[in-house]
Amino acid sequence: MPKPHPRSISVCSGKGGTGKTTLTANLGVSLASLGRKVVIMDADLAMANLSIVMGLRKCDVTLFDVLKGEAEIGQALYENYGVKVLPTGFRFEDVQEMLGKVRRERVEEVVRELLSRTEILLIDAPAGIQEATIFSLAASRETIAVSLPSYPSLVDCYKTVRLANLLRTWPRGLVLNRVGGEYLDRSEVQAFMDRAVKGIPILAEIPEDPKVREAEMEGVPAVVYEPSSPASQAIRHLASVVAGEADLPYVPIEEREVRETTRRLLAALTG
Ligand code: ADP
Ligand code: MG
Repeated sequence: MPKPHPRSISVCSGKGGTGKTTLTANLGVSLASLGRKVVIMDADLAMANLSIVMGLRKCDVTLFDVLKGEAEIGQALYENYGVKVLPTGFRFEDVQEMLGKVRRERVEEVVRELLSRTEILLIDAPAGIQEATIFSLAASRETIAVSLPSYPSLVDCYKTVRLANLLRTWPRGLVLNRVGGEYLDRSEVQAFMDRAVKGIPILAEIPEDPKVREAEMEGVPAVVYEPSSPASQAIRHLASVVAGEADLPYVPIEEREVRETTRRLLAALTG
């Protein structure tokens, strides 16, 4: 059987705190438990923390060293929970130095080399539409956008999806994270996204789940820490969708009237 083409998927959002790092780590571990070879890369150069969520304690060589050309990629890969992790360092001085210097071509080279070693590369992208985000998106073929089920987060997400389109990476869909409480329901979110950017599906709804924070405190990915918790189950299902082993969890919602707030936001965004 021919080897499947390796896939690069960036996990992105308009603002920080939506759950990109949590999703990158847990989706990576879940894909690995489906038998896929997975590398996850921390491209959030300024706010790196993927290695912590993955329970890695000591990473002497990081993406910084690779980007500077001072280390081989193999020296900066660490394995935990069946997944290879390419971490980024946290030293403030290094971050300051790197942010001004990193070149798009170098990021693309690193991604190409990682793809020669794996089946699926997940990139924990920085939030927003800054340069480092552009590099991550441009270097990946597919994009998964993460949003909270609120209007401000969705507006940010809309911009990220537009950026992905401009950079010719394929926005696979939207993951709604921390669902529950008084926020928007899925049909309202779908109605908003359908009108703002045509045809972007909702790939998963991950509930608000206290086990996610607990797992983070322990430095263990939630899908390992508490596999039966609601968030873990939702992320595992997302992994089977991403791996092409399950259908999308939702059928398209029928056309429906949207709320006045949604209508106003759409008018402001799309002119
Ligand atoms: P980002 O990488 O987008 O900045 P993180 O993945 O670091 O976001 O998540 C921000 C915080 O929210 C973390 O403390 C994380 O544990 C928490 N969190 C993420 N997803 C959930 C969830 N589904 N339920 C509860 N807490 C969550
Ligand atoms: Mg993060």
